[in-house]
Amino acid sequence: MMSSPSSFADLGLSPELLAALSDLGYETPSPIQAACIPRLLSGCDLLGMAQTGTGKTAAFALPILQRIDIRKRLPQALILAPTRELAIQVAESCQSYARHLPGFHVAPIYGGQSMGLQLKQLGRGVHVVIGTPGRVMDHIERKSLDLSNLTTLVLDEADEMLRMGFIDDVEWILQHVPATRQTALFSATMPEPIRRVAQRYLNDPEEVKIKSTTATVTAIRQRYWQVSGLHKLDALTRILEVEDNLDAAIIFVRTKTATAELAEKLEARGYGAAALNGDMNQVLRERTIDQLKNGGIDIVVATDVAARGIDVPRISHVINYDIPNDTEAYVHRIGRTGRAGRQGNAILFVAPREIRTLRAIERATRQPIEPLVLPSKQAVADRRVAQFKEQIMQVIESEDLDFFAEIVDELAEESSESDAREIAAALAFLVQQERPLRADGLSDVAPRESGGASRGRHQEEARDYRGALQPYRIDVGRVHGVAPGDIVGALANEAGINNRAIGRITLLDDYSIVELPTGLSKETLNALSFLRVRQRPLKLTPLAQRERQSKYEQDRRGGSNDKKPRKRKTEK
Ligand code: ADP
Ligand code: MG
Repeated sequence: MMSSPSSFADLGLSPELLAALSDLGYETPSPIQAACIPRLLSGCDLLGMAQTGTGKTAAFALPILQRIDIRKRLPQALILAPTRELAIQVAESCQSYARHLPGFHVAPIYGGQSMGLQLKQLGRGVHVVIGTPGRVMDHIERKSLDLSNLTTLVLDEADEMLRMGFIDDVEWILQHVPATRQTALFSATMPEPIRRVAQRYLNDPEEVKIKSTTATVTAIRQRYWQVSGLHKLDALTRILEVEDNLDAAIIFVRTKTATAELAEKLEARGYGAAALNGDMNQVLRERTIDQLKNGGIDIVVATDVAARGIDVPRISHVINYDIPNDTEAYVHRIGRTGRAGRQGNAILFVAPREIRTLRAIERATRQPIEPLVLPSKQAVADRRVAQFKEQIMQVIESEDLDFFAEIVDELAEESSESDAREIAAALAFLVQQERPLRADGLSDVAPRESGGASRGRHQEEARDYRGALQPYRIDVGRVHGVAPGDIVGALANEAGINNRAIGRITLLDDYSIVELPTGLSKETLNALSFLRVRQRPLKLTPLAQRERQSKYEQDRRGGSNDKKPRKRKTEK
């Protein structure tokens, strides 16, 4: 492979295209661009392998734009993409790279959009057509798509087209375009059927392979949260509340129904959220993506299929609420963030039984995924207080407060006991009732949630606890420098176990005993055993019957019998 040039100008691109790239803020070509652009400009066929987010669109679109004859208003390039969203996205990219090419026209064509509109667009005369295989076939059969002047054909995300069952359509199209064309095939992976298509339809192609380690994932900070104790929804809202640099987020769930349900719950909690799934019609889906783009909403809850290829630079976070089915889906998902040279964040929720999937993802992406410590209630409260103060300072700076100041003066005069400080405190109290500022005012279920349907089992066990306690052994003790507060803190703040449901804590030398409600579910126990205190896994296990009767009683009499402290901040 050639040494990586440091500028687009070195690649032989025209001044018009260079100007567009500079407008867009592209400083240096990505590795796939550096490798593909000169080769495609020279007219040869190409087989490109690279993960999502490596900049493939510009790698094939720029040479296409440079090579077309604008005066000839006939399709000269055809790009096949697996989904409508992707087709639209590629069309938008072409349009933006062609901003200094007056008279340039591009048309995305895909199923679900009215045929009439597409016929009109094609009739007006376009230079580049981007389409999904089925619809392109339709147009070729109807003779509404004249490909006799085609010079370049690109198959974008070929493996995805294969996965979606389009491979026969793709071959059919390959057989119905002029044989003299240039063909480029891009794929993240090279499964056998794709390799066969390449061998059959590409003419002595140059191969370009970009190692996955240089792919987008390096610009993405990946973390996982081991689902434990707290309900996923509550964990999610805590994360949304305290994550730094959160601009927009895309949340992945497994089913269409779940997109609507979760979006609704987030809306009820005051977030600008919307669902995105395959049941929505195209207009609605496009509108939703536009809203996300322009800040009308900040969160989209999507399924894999509906979100594929979305390119919205302000997506700062991808949250895998439900774990993806496979590694490939994971890579596609997180490729929605860290775009346009920005730093991205990916957070994966992992249930205990899904740990193996997590490890598989780590191996396949060759990137470590760090554990995420769920923000404690105190952290959430601290953040709210900081925002509250900021808000007040802003109002003082920007609003005319004379009228309101007079009311405060009046109040102070009328009530001899209250001064301005106390009045301000009362106002602060009133303002925060919907969104409490104190950590102990934060419930596990957000205040506006009314129904009980969404409450997880874990939570119920802890929240509604009134019954008997049972001793559990945990693997930290005095020698580890642990204090009872650390244990309460971990159980309450990190695992979301209600403070009241935690009984006596007995510190022993190298282990401790903590009383928790009897009959915790296996799942909860398993989840709790992953908690860490003083860097040590708690390994929470019910104290064996025998041990309970002898040792525990004995230890209780002899060991320190620390009273449970009030909840305190336990950030690591
Ligand atoms: P892929 O098709 O490989 O998944 P895209 O072509 O969609 O990747 O590009 C991913 C993102 O990176 C897009 O937001 C695009 O605008 C941006 N991008 C592409 N090339 C560059 C570059 N050279 N410099 C900065 N940003 C770029
Ligand atoms: Mg792409």
